[in-house]
Amino acid sequence: EPQDVGFIGLGNMGSHMATNLLKAGHRLTVYDRNEAVMQTFAERGATVAHNPREVADASDVVITMLPSSPHVEEVYTGKNGILSNVGSVRPSLLIDSSTIDPHKSRLLATKVAKCKLLPNSKKVVVGEVPVLLDAPVSGGVVGAQAATLTFMIGGHQEGFQVAEPLLRAMGSRIVYCGGPGNGAAAKVCNNLALAISMAGVAEALALGQQLGIDAHTLSNIFNSSSARCWSSDTYNPVPGVMANVPASRDYKGGFSSQLLTKDLGLAIAAAEEAGAAVPLGGQILEMYKTLCKAGHSTLDFSSIFQYYYSGKSE
Ligand code: NAD
Repeated sequence: EPQDVGFIGLGNMGSHMATNLLKAGHRLTVYDRNEAVMQTFAERGATVAHNPREVADASDVVITMLPSSPHVEEVYTGKNGILSNVGSVRPSLLIDSSTIDPHKSRLLATKVAKCKLLPNSKKVVVGEVPVLLDAPVSGGVVGAQAATLTFMIGGHQEGFQVAEPLLRAMGSRIVYCGGPGNGAAAKVCNNLALAISMAGVAEALALGQQLGIDAHTLSNIFNSSSARCWSSDTYNPVPGVMANVPASRDYKGGFSSQLLTKDLGLAIAAAEEAGAAVPLGGQILEMYKTLCKAGHSTLDFSSIFQYYYSGKSE
């Protein structure tokens, strides 16, 4: 059934996600601080708003897809933010798909639950207060375009059930992870493990080359041995080992080192808040910072393979 959906943050991911909502027949009101992208959405039939509050006033459900925690805080609690209408909102369901700090996500969920619903609220989620779900995604720009994203959901369980059919227009796996912040926690943990496994594969393949075993042969060994993982068999970091991966196109068109660096910072902040030890996380973050400084910010994160060569000449 078509719904009045608001979408804020029409970047690399959000623009595809919002387009898939339009394709599914939903009525969309959008906002992004980038005027040019809003023009594109006006041409596709979306209503353009001037700020997040206008989006909320026109919608029963609002989805945000912003770079990180400060942007989400601004869009929710800033001037003309979603919650700026003297603490009353029309949408009973708010979904944040940005990758943000789980702790900050929990604080925001509490703030949202203190708000009231306006008289014109449709109450798609039953209850007297609005519900915020954290719903970060994996699957990258390709998954966003093909509507095959995985959503990791934290928050109110009934809110999750209401959100699920809507999220199906943008993703193929919708996983409930538990209470508020648990989706964000799942996402930062995934990306922490991903960064470490990618660096592990890169380090071992670089060593192999220096010991005289070519990366192709060694990757084949890994892929039928105990070192096999996504970083070795699906997203190999060595140029030429696999076709159709960023490593084989100069590390272009993938998941940027800069975004992964941001996510590692989130994992470490979350670990500090929880008193958890993440020694490998700290080390891998330093490696990615070095890589970004060396000009890799916008290159795919598998370019960590080159760390082992640029590292040598330092
Ligand atoms: P992006 O930078 O391409 O898009 C962000 C959009 O938000 C931009 O259009 C920007 O103009 C807009 N924006 C920023 N601040 C705003 C504000 N205050 N008000 C209105 N609009 C504002 O980022 P992206 O690649 O689309 O990623 C979005 C989120 O998804 C990030 O948290 C990222 O970590 C996560 N993510 C990205 C990928 C990926 O492969 N790109 C994969 C999984 C998850």
